[in-house]
Amino acid sequence: MQEMNFAHFHGAVPKYRNYGAIAEQGVLFITPEANAIPRRYDPFEDSQGLLLDVVRTGAAVADCDVFMDYCLSQKILPLEDVAFWRCGDFFAPNPKKAGPLVDILLDFVYRYGLPAWEPGSSVLTTYPARYGNRAMAIRQDAEDNDISHALHYELTQRACMRSKSGAIPVCSLALTLLDFYLRFMEEIDRPYFPIHNTEWGLSFEHKKTPRLTAQVYDLVTCINLAYAHLVSVQGKAVRQCKHCQTFFVAEDLRAEYCSPRCRGAYNSKMTRKRVKERKLREGQ
Ligand SMILES: [Zn+2]
Repeated sequence: MQEMNFAHFHGAVPKYRNYGAIAEQGVLFITPEANAIPRRYDPFEDSQGLLLDVVRTGAAVADCDVFMDYCLSQKILPLEDVAFWRCGDFFAPNPKKAGPLVDILLDFVYRYGLPAWEPGSSVLTTYPARYGNRAMAIRQDAEDNDISHALHYELTQRACMRSKSGAIPVCSLALTLLDFYLRFMEEIDRPYFPIHNTEWGLSFEHKKTPRLTAQVYDLVTCINLAYAHLVSVQGKAVRQCKHCQTFFVAEDLRAEYCSPRCRGAYNSKMTRKRVKERKLREGQ
């Protein structure tokens, strides 16, 4: 059989004109403005822009020390959004510390809408590499036999789906974007990308390459498909420039710099550093 032609995605993701952050029962939610009417848009129209915004926002979560310190201090391992129902939300009780990250997440939501937050599912990820040692040191005490928080969590999900036009807790959104960042940038070994809320179609003719088409109604699935297409079909990658730290789409999997100018600048910086180190050594 010939290879499948796997390049025809269309997104129909709901997006509202405005969103706000609202605390309810000790948890901060991002929710569409009251009585707003959603419109549909297609994230595949600029899938590279989407992927870059995903890693930029995910990097902001990874770099938010106060949030990571909180998760470590509560012994949340692995990082799972349901755990915030057990030990208490970080975002609602800490408006000052959490404010800058909430603003960055809201910016992302204004542009792309909210991922679907569905009953029975939970967001699961790990710690960025630089927290590896501290995360390893966490010993989860006695097995957590109290699952009442899980029931409360699922009831909250159902209430969000039913009455709040798809509101989700800030902790769930933060972990969703952190997970993308880790999988795309730190390449943690979890090559499984779930597909939700998608209508598939197949068209083929005798001896012609079958064409698989997808109409996607879920933002997370759009991100998964856009990334799979970028890496597998186009052979490109999302990278962070070693010199200027900008995120960029690289033509080559081995690319380390956003531009020849940054490669040159980084190399001369390293040369200067080596010369300085040698002088110091020789001076001793
Ligand atoms: Zn650069």
